[in-house]
Amino acid sequence: MLKLENVSKFYYNKGIIASGFTKVNLELNIGEFVAITGESGSGKSTLLNVISGLDSYEEGEMYINGKETSHYTEKDFEDYRRKYIANIFQSFNLINSYTVYQNIELVLLLNGYKKHKVKKKILDIIDQVGLTKFKNTKVSKLSGGQKQRVAIARAVVKETPIIVADEPTGNLDSESAKDVIEILKKIAKNKLVVIVTHNIEQIEQYATRIIKMNDGRIIENREIKKITDEKPPQESKYNNISIFNKYRLGIRNTFNIKTKFLLLFSVFFFISTAILTEYASFQMSEEERADSGYSIAFHDLSENRILINKKDRSNFTSEDYAKIKELSNVDYIVEDDIFLDSGIPLQRNEISLYGNLLNIENLKGNIDIGRMPQSEDEIILKVRKDSYYASKSTDEILNKTFSILKSQGLNAYSDEKVKDLTVVGIQYSDNNDDDYNCKFYVSNSVLSELRSQVNANYSNIKVFFNNKYQQYTVEPSDKVEQGKAVVDDEFKYQFKNYKIINKPLNIYVSNIYYNEELNLSISNTYTKSNFKKLTSLDKYDNNRYRIFVNTNDFNSLYNKPSYQSSVFVKDEKEIDETITNLENLGITAKKVTDFKVQQGEIYQRIIKVIKVIVTIVLIIVLFFISYLIIRIILKSRNIYYTTLRMLGATYKDVRRILDIELFVNSSLSYCILLIFIYLVKNNILNIEYVAKLSNFLFLKEYVLMYVILIVISRLISRKFAKKLFKKTAINTYNEEV
Ligand code: ADP
Ligand code: MG
Repeated sequence: MLKLENVSKFYYNKGIIASGFTKVNLELNIGEFVAITGESGSGKSTLLNVISGLDSYEEGEMYINGKETSHYTEKDFEDYRRKYIANIFQSFNLINSYTVYQNIELVLLLNGYKKHKVKKKILDIIDQVGLTKFKNTKVSKLSGGQKQRVAIARAVVKETPIIVADEPTGNLDSESAKDVIEILKKIAKNKLVVIVTHNIEQIEQYATRIIKMNDGRIIENREIKKITDEKPPQESKYNNISIFNKYRLGIRNTFNIKTKFLLLFSVFFFISTAILTEYASFQMSEEERADSGYSIAFHDLSENRILINKKDRSNFTSEDYAKIKELSNVDYIVEDDIFLDSGIPLQRNEISLYGNLLNIENLKGNIDIGRMPQSEDEIILKVRKDSYYASKSTDEILNKTFSILKSQGLNAYSDEKVKDLTVVGIQYSDNNDDDYNCKFYVSNSVLSELRSQVNANYSNIKVFFNNKYQQYTVEPSDKVEQGKAVVDDEFKYQFKNYKIINKPLNIYVSNIYYNEELNLSISNTYTKSNFKKLTSLDKYDNNRYRIFVNTNDFNSLYNKPSYQSSVFVKDEKEIDETITNLENLGITAKKVTDFKVQQGEIYQRIIKVIKVIVTIVLIIVLFFISYLIIRIILKSRNIYYTTLRMLGATYKDVRRILDIELFVNSSLSYCILLIFIYLVKNNILNIEYVAKLSNFLFLKEYVLMYVILIVISRLISRKFAKKLFKKTAINTYNEEV
């Protein structure tokens, strides 16, 4: 069966050649029970490793079944080991976290047996080594003798023709040692058994041949009983491990050591949390940047505001509004929304409140102090709780009358009052998205009264007379005839001979909503003495250089009925759907945020690039950190994988089993993370920061993160398996034991 002719084994170690054994001649046959003995360092283990194909030899010939093996590749020896060899080790080399049954099953699964077909066989062999009582006990709980009996069972169950055992009794007391040898002798009939021992007495009575070694040479080869090969040995049948069994082992390995499971779990949890947090934080800061945009035309840039007007530029009717209100996501409508975009100051002594006018019908919720308005000139003030205004003592605001002052150009205000309004109630805003401006909730009639004023504030006005455009303020007065203009007497000096009466004067008004013009002729000029008569106003000094027109003419310029309104939606995430619905009603609809101008677009683009770079770097760094951590965690598992290898697992098998273990673990940890995020999102767990961040993560990000996690775990198992297989099985084994 096995024949060695002048075989020598050398070790090359840093240029020094050491001899394992020299010129060994030996023939061993099936049925023999061979004992190899000798001093420590005499080459016994080396010989055994060469015989069992675990180690190479440098000189001579070794025949297996008459076949010469010097041309054998690593793969050929692997094949030989799987067909012919079963090993028993001094240190048992069992999987401590597996039960007796699982340890024996493992070798069969690795050699492609189906799980349900091997049960009887395993129970049988467990019975033969006398461990039936312990079949479901974890190996770590057994005594040394019992462990070695498991190892014997595992070696025998594979049904190889050769069993090699390197000092199987070395770690046992003499009682157990005797036991082990007896069992081995009993169940390993019709096999070639080669046992290395330096305690020859234990084995002498069973051995059919005793070989003594010294200094790498066989000094005695005594045949006690002659046995020759009758028929060629029965090769052990094996297949590659089935995918199903790989999964079985992978999943078994995931959970069999609790601390290892938890450590790996934490590493994966940390990786996904770190990457998702980093990414979401970037998204958040990007969004905040985007929020900080501004618009010249629109003051209220709420995310939930949609600007609407009719395609034919006609006014909205109450039926139109009713239809819009029926849409599910519509919260409320601000009709005539110019007031949203035009801030107005309310003045009282030195206090000045600045904000937007809104219809009282649009006030939501309860007021915090004061009462609701009872007359048209009473208003509610809404203000952010942490704003400067709110910090003012409410005595200075509540039940106090403020004035809207007449505008003088775009930003300056005279001390003439347009309207007095009394603040009777205050509502505090707790929405951090609101800006620090106030909101003034006023009655419908006040709104229409002020519309001209607001439009005037926000319009560009040009007056054309004497063949040039000039900028003057236009004022209404009932005293002036329609189609006429009354101007300051000073104006006449612009004309030849001071002839100003009947000269044409055209007024052009433009703002973001419309352009309007008014063609008049000058009917009169005012001086200090006739001012009151012509305009019915008192203060001549305050009204120098103005143009007075008939109130109706004035209103034709400014008191435009609204053709633009705003819809506010309940859920801003569904705003696009609402826009589609509005468009289906024949309405032009646009998000107000579309009109936002971004600040520092280059800055924003840089942030985007940085986000991508940081994310990639983070993933790479996390990969290496987690590889190092996982390698440390798995280091205790080296022995496991080496054992798998000795039992016949290939590089691919080991990688796959590890893949599956890491896959199951990382998937599980990711699942838990998702559940955690789900609980936070649904307010079952109250963690504000997580909730905020999770708003920036969507299906796409979650899927991508999972893919990254799986790729990382696969790369890790690949790297680990490669490292493990870089050395020969016996070297890794020797390092571990
Ligand atoms: P035994 O098992 O009889 O105690 P070994 O077979 O382990 O002896 O060792 C035989 C000789 O080979 C010893 O001199 C030992 O130092 C040497 N040897 C064994 N393994 C290695 C190795 N991996 N590298 C170098 N020398 C080795
Ligand atoms: Mg040895």
